[in-house]
Amino acid sequence: MQSYLKVLYDQELKTITEISIPLDNVMDMMKSIARLFLILIVVGCAQQALAQKVVSKVVLDAGHGGKDPGAIGSFSKEKDIALGITLKVRDILNREMPQLKTILTRDADFFVELKGRHEIANKANADLFISIHVNSTAGTRSRVQSGTRRVKQGRKYVTVPVYKTIVNRATSVSGTETYVLGLSRNSQKEKAIGEYSETVSDEPGLMDENDPTTAIIIAQYSQAFLGRSVTLGSKVQQNFGKLGRGNFGVKQKSLEVLAGSAMPGVLIEVGFINNAEEEAYLNSPAGQDALARAIATAIIDYKLELERKK
Ligand SMILES: [Zn+2]
Repeated sequence: MQSYLKVLYDQELKTITEISIPLDNVMDMMKSIARLFLILIVVGCAQQALAQKVVSKVVLDAGHGGKDPGAIGSFSKEKDIALGITLKVRDILNREMPQLKTILTRDADFFVELKGRHEIANKANADLFISIHVNSTAGTRSRVQSGTRRVKQGRKYVTVPVYKTIVNRATSVSGTETYVLGLSRNSQKEKAIGEYSETVSDEPGLMDENDPTTAIIIAQYSQAFLGRSVTLGSKVQQNFGKLGRGNFGVKQKSLEVLAGSAMPGVLIEVGFINNAEEEAYLNSPAGQDALARAIATAIIDYKLELERKK
């Protein structure tokens, strides 16, 4: 199927190069074609994927990396926590389920584009895509007086206060959540929830929900992969709950990192880096072991359950 797509893609490119059009239009068309290509991958794999009841390859995607630190805590960065947990998930799976091949989008501190992450997953023809991230709230801003200064008013000098803006990122919000691909149906309602609503909007790669192709991709994805993604996400969240971690459940968001990979997938937020207690837990070997165990167990359960249904 990959070669079939390649031919289609080549034909589209040929059509473009044959027509002489201004560069801007070419860029726009290239973008459209990239979107079309994405739709073709998702649609093309849908039928095949639904029939597929063996889980033989899983892509483990540690969020961010290199120049992109992700969310920042008081002493640690999201990219490092995500990598730490991802490596532990890989080790558990390799040890306990060696017939399941694990593929990493990064195994060290380097940057990988979202597109590169999709490519790794799609080229490997993987059966599952697991992206691991750390949450953060946006923080609150307040204006405080930092001093005074003298300014001339008319013919005399007066003292006026000087203010500065302080961003307080610390939060009492704690817990885990797992995202599957979908249109966030009620952003107004999310806003009303308050501080918490600011969370994953900080993540890069939200799809443009006003772009009609977004709706097509998500509709196709929903048909082929949503059910399985929710099944997996629910298992992850249940396991987090058993650990006593706060459980915000499985949610939908139009995250490009999930849309570009033609397979069931979830994006897991393992906790809040700007909550002091959670930051300590997320950086501790015991915390990372427990979270990795919860994720790996969910993957193993998902695999065994799906293969039993054959
Ligand atoms: Zn992230």
